[in-house]
Amino acid sequence: MKHLILGFSAAGANAAETLRRQDSQAEITVLNGENRPFYLRLDLEGIFHGKGAEQLMPRPPEYWEERGIRVVPGRAARVNPARHEVHIESGGTLHYDRLLIAVGSAPRDLTVPGRGLDGIFHYHTLGDALAIHALRERVRRAVIVGGGILGLELAHAAHAFGWEIVILVRGGHVGSPIVDASGSALVLASLERAGVKVIFRDEVAAFEGREKHVTAIRTKSGRILECDFAGICAGVVPDVGFLEGSGLLEDGQLIVNERLQTSAPDVFAAGDCAVVHATDGRLIPCRNWNVASAQARVAAANMSGADSVWTEGVLYNLDYLFGQEFALIGPWADRHLPERALHEFPAENSYRALVTHEGILESALLLGDRSADRRLRKLIAAGAVVENRLPQVLDTNIPLENLLKF
Ligand SMILES: Cc1cc2nc3c(=O)[nH]c(=O)nc-3n(C[C@H](O)[C@H](O)[C@H](O)COP(=O)(O)OP(=O)(O)OC[C@H]3O[C@@H](n4cnc5c(N)ncnc54)[C@H](O)[C@@H]3O)c2cc1C
Repeated sequence: MKHLILGFSAAGANAAETLRRQDSQAEITVLNGENRPFYLRLDLEGIFHGKGAEQLMPRPPEYWEERGIRVVPGRAARVNPARHEVHIESGGTLHYDRLLIAVGSAPRDLTVPGRGLDGIFHYHTLGDALAIHALRERVRRAVIVGGGILGLELAHAAHAFGWEIVILVRGGHVGSPIVDASGSALVLASLERAGVKVIFRDEVAAFEGREKHVTAIRTKSGRILECDFAGICAGVVPDVGFLEGSGLLEDGQLIVNERLQTSAPDVFAAGDCAVVHATDGRLIPCRNWNVASAQARVAAANMSGADSVWTEGVLYNLDYLFGQEFALIGPWADRHLPERALHEFPAENSYRALVTHEGILESALLLGDRSADRRLRKLIAAGAVVENRLPQVLDTNIPLENLLKF
């Protein structure tokens, strides 16, 4: 059996390892779209704290060859499912019996005048992080476009480098989509304490420059923000443009079933590039390292002939919003759906919120205080009915068993 994997990150690398475990004889080829060995994208911030690139690489380069996994540099330009062929951008064609598309997401770009100037960066790849880190002694003033997780992560690093920072936010609060307006106050307070200026409800109209280097951002409202560094952290989009015309996209989306299978029976997809159409009708995107890895393991098992189903489980994500630790438990993004109730518990140094669906605890956000983390995970997994007992849910002095009884 000839397996071909497009993309060599969380989904691609996990799929290759799973395929090898399932079948010692299978031919496994991975098309690596980046000129680096497999690395932990979720740990990129480590580069800003002085980690070397190799410390982000969980496997030595020879690991793959030793397991008979062929890693080929290049990017797929076109897929032809009828002929079982993938055309590579630099020329050449790869053939497959089973294909896994694991090309992830790409940073959303800004198509405004001056975008081609030097000094304007995305924060998405190891190459980006190394290039930004190399500038730490040279930059004085930075504008970071976007106040979401990645924008705040970059601002946190830039603050440690000693740069003067402005964050330009299109919406009305920082930390979106993790925190809503009420929860973002805590994050804004830590930004203010650090001397970071935040501008809300404004956008980039153009980058201005001198001698090919960015010197300022002109905003739609007419502000001129002087800078010698601009970081674009405006979200990500599934990197599936090269699949146009392949018949695999539906309204521009790469939709798979719970077996991670696309509309073509021998083509699977996993990770940030895919959207799972669950049997309950929901369309579930992936924006998380562990989910991408888990989906890849299921896809790889099915590519080897198994009949595995990916289930969402209790999602869990731990990260920081400008130094404020947060935990997300359960389908937090669903909190705005009908029939959900959001219960907020703001305090001086923390913000906690619980979401119930018809009285059942469905998801939670813990920002600044994670003491209830483990019990919340158990309650959400158990589908505990918590209506009228919400303060007890967060009170770690109350035994968990009392809350699981109903
Ligand atoms: C800076 C940063 C920090 C993050 N922090 C966290 C975190 O703390 N926790 C967390 O859970 N998640 C985090 N994430 C998200 C997480 O990294 C992603 O959810 C995860 O990497 C998705 O894995 P993936 O394999 O689906 O795709 P990706 O990691 O996006 O990798 C896809 C790979 O495919 C390649 N590719 C693209 N197109 C082609 C093509 N046509 N042909 C061949 N190859 C191609 C790309 O170059 C890339 O190497 C972070 C993301 C970023 C950018």
